[in-house]
Amino acid sequence: MIREKKMINFNAGPAALPEEVLQQAAEAVRDYNGTGLSILEIPHRGRLFDAIMEESRHLVKELCGLNEDYEVLWLQGGRLQFAMIPMNFLPPDGTAGYVDSGQWAAEAMDYARHYGKAAALASSREQGYTFFPGLPSALPGDLAYVYLVSNNTIYGTQCRELPAVTAPLVADMSSDILSMRRDYTACSLFYAVAQKNLGTAGVTLVVIRKDMLPRICRTLPPMLDYAAHVRSSAVLNTPPVFAIYTSLLMLRWLKARGIDAVEKENRKKAAMLYEELDRNPLFHPLVAPESRSLMNVVFRAVNADAEKSFTDLCAANGIANIKGHRSAGGFRVSLYNSIPAEAVQELIAVMQETEHKQDHH
Ligand SMILES: *Cc1c(COP(=O)(O)O)cnc(C)c1O
Repeated sequence: MIREKKMINFNAGPAALPEEVLQQAAEAVRDYNGTGLSILEIPHRGRLFDAIMEESRHLVKELCGLNEDYEVLWLQGGRLQFAMIPMNFLPPDGTAGYVDSGQWAAEAMDYARHYGKAAALASSREQGYTFFPGLPSALPGDLAYVYLVSNNTIYGTQCRELPAVTAPLVADMSSDILSMRRDYTACSLFYAVAQKNLGTAGVTLVVIRKDMLPRICRTLPPMLDYAAHVRSSAVLNTPPVFAIYTSLLMLRWLKARGIDAVEKENRKKAAMLYEELDRNPLFHPLVAPESRSLMNVVFRAVNADAEKSFTDLCAANGIANIKGHRSAGGFRVSLYNSIPAEAVQELIAVMQETEHKQDHH
């Protein structure tokens, strides 16, 4: 145990990391692999960092089931990808199709409109984003790409099965990357900010199929050009070495468990919590059963009294960061890979205690 007092952290991001990963990261800050250097001090061009890059790229490919057709990049912020994707792939006279499944998708669509046309192919906006909207069977034939968010962190909806489309599929997988088996090869490009399910803030995993590179439709400065990142055999700028290393530690942790075991645990955690939400008269889940996310569980209390009582009991029991996103309200509990089933059991116990207290009012 590396902390005096350990909270159960259900934050949506930056999110909890496994205790082992925190311990290894802390050790690397002190002394990286017995080199006498801190991970914070090692050069980003050199043997030590090259090895971190190589292993991390290899593990991403292995865990996602990708072959040599794909390139793995570590770039920065999620919203930078909102911009880079249309910058690289949406010509001024072209149209990209977006699945408007929540705020992150809508924001990405707004970014795209700086470069070309962005059309919502399907939307659940009018219904408060309470389900993941399916694509219509017939899509316009000439889309530059189809963009979706596989898991809607704010609204707690998830795309169960990636759709088969003829245009290149681009997916923001920030909040469910490597949480279950998926056919990642359905995507021509997918990315994930690290601070949700993969590590710490400051780095974004970007995976791109090589056949996308000839489609780049603008001359761009190198930092904004996917092909320039791929060409630079090392890195274009000084990358966030520590953030990339933390993601590598997570990738090792995932490999040691295996994605199937991780998925099984994630399904178990979500099933326990949704079952309690469906049973406990003080709470109700906001998402339609067929769209419920395994990662972010969004719900409300039936009244202000129950909301306050539950909030207070969570605080008293060391349970932190369950407040819903400011645009969704209520509660949100994030059950990323790092969260053990016991943490969910403790939360459920607090929900039941809240129920008993209300009964005695
Ligand atoms: C958090 C999040 C983002 C935004 O990431 P930033 O690094 O804050 O720009 C984008 N997409 C999804 C699905 C997210 O959950």
